[in-house]
Amino acid sequence: MSKFINIAIDGPAGAGKSTIAKAIAKKKKYIYLDTGAMYRSFALYLLKNGFDLSQKDSAEYLQAMVDKYLDSFELDVAYDENGQRVIVNGEDYTGSIRTPDVTAVSSTVASVPALRLKLVELQRIIASKNNVVMDGRDIGTYVLKDATVKIFLTATAEERAKRRYDELVASGSDVSYDKIYADMVERDRFDSSRAMAPLKCADDAVKVDSTDMSLEEVIDYILNITEAKI
Ligand code: C5P
Repeated sequence: MSKFINIAIDGPAGAGKSTIAKAIAKKKKYIYLDTGAMYRSFALYLLKNGFDLSQKDSAEYLQAMVDKYLDSFELDVAYDENGQRVIVNGEDYTGSIRTPDVTAVSSTVASVPALRLKLVELQRIIASKNNVVMDGRDIGTYVLKDATVKIFLTATAEERAKRRYDELVASGSDVSYDKIYADMVERDRFDSSRAMAPLKCADDAVKVDSTDMSLEEVIDYILNITEAKI
């Protein structure tokens, strides 16, 4: 077991994991590790190397692309005053990993075990050297099975899609609620049904349904659980 405090926050897309994990990390002065950003970085690396989006649902194609590009993929996770940055082979990808194409490819390619093993190794090294709040899909069930605190954060799909829609509209994007809802449900279905380390609530996680909770309420609730454990 790590001598550092490890807080695992898992859950489906759009549940508010990153906002909440960041707030808790700031309050406790722990580092925050967004593991989704790591899968997104590899997806962008593939796209920059000519990934053919029309083949993203072919398991053979995904495996072949991972086999071809994984060895040359050097990921550094760095921190500055704006938070976590992801650097791939010396290039800062942080600002470019939230596009719809990267989102779609990250979820499909995250089903390939060789990629997961490489990223999980890095995640465990970070957790073994730091007090960390880590968010993702498999942190409590697979990456950090002995985490000090495990949270499974969820909300109804309608509420999660609405929050994502409001966020995008506020930032000036012209988006459709129905499309956001459909993409989110499909991504959760895919993430929950892959063979290796699927999205799942750990048996010993505290399940938090944030549908009718404010951000502050969720943060306070998780902080109280953390204080009771450390
Ligand atoms: O959390 P985020 O939406 O940025 O993650 C993007 C994708 O990366 C997810 O849909 C999921 O397929 C994958 N992922 C994963 N395991 C994690 C974190 C993310 O498979 N721990």
